[in-house]
Amino acid sequence: MSDGWAEVTLFQKLLREELAKKRPSYPQEIDKPWLSRLLDIYQLLDAWVEVETHLKGIKNKIACFKGCGSCCRLLPVPINHLEYLGLSWYVTEMLVCEDRYAVKSRLQNLSEDSPCPFLIDNACLVYPLRPLACRQFFILNNPCLEGQNPWFKRREDIYCALNQEISWLIATRYFPVYGLKGEAEQRKAFNEGFLTAQDKPLTAYRWSAVSEKI
Ligand code: SF4
Ligand code: SF4
Repeated sequence: MSDGWAEVTLFQKLLREELAKKRPSYPQEIDKPWLSRLLDIYQLLDAWVEVETHLKGIKNKIACFKGCGSCCRLLPVPINHLEYLGLSWYVTEMLVCEDRYAVKSRLQNLSEDSPCPFLIDNACLVYPLRPLACRQFFILNNPCLEGQNPWFKRREDIYCALNQEISWLIATRYFPVYGLKGEAEQRKAFNEGFLTAQDKPLTAYRWSAVSEKI
């Protein structure tokens, strides 16, 4: 990776090893280069979380588990347009049988205050394409109680992966999508919060057109 690190630390070594592992891939990536970009970005954040939680000794303290989804009902997560494309692709082309109909029904009845439409029976039906916001926060020690917002009640138990370094690495992979290619203009956009400004709540996107294709 061209990350500008002059000296390879243990963190960087482990991160490179993690990134060298094969990520999930799909035949549709041949026609959809944006999908490869998105999956690479998700792999980068997942690898970062894996290495950081390992080195900080908190990996075993992560309380989030499959089937625990009260956070998905609290507030709609913020996503950008590329993530919207990824989720739209996944629900129209990858979901099968009853999962398709469950998501279709949720999308048809979606309002901006709805819980995440992809949480069905406490399972995330878009797990491989879940957005960055769903990959960067974890709760340590004990799972949240239903309806509990840990940001207000248990802030000390929140692990958030995003710091300046990983945010910059992710941003450099998003910027070309917006036509920002040179390092100087990317740095400027990064410092001005360009990418955060692109985010909208997941439920604010146009899902009715997607539901018609399911
Ligand atoms: S953040 Fe809380 S509610 Fe969400 S998966 Fe983790 S423990 Fe469960
Ligand atoms: S996309 Fe999945 S993990 Fe993210 S809020 Fe929705 S159900 Fe939860």
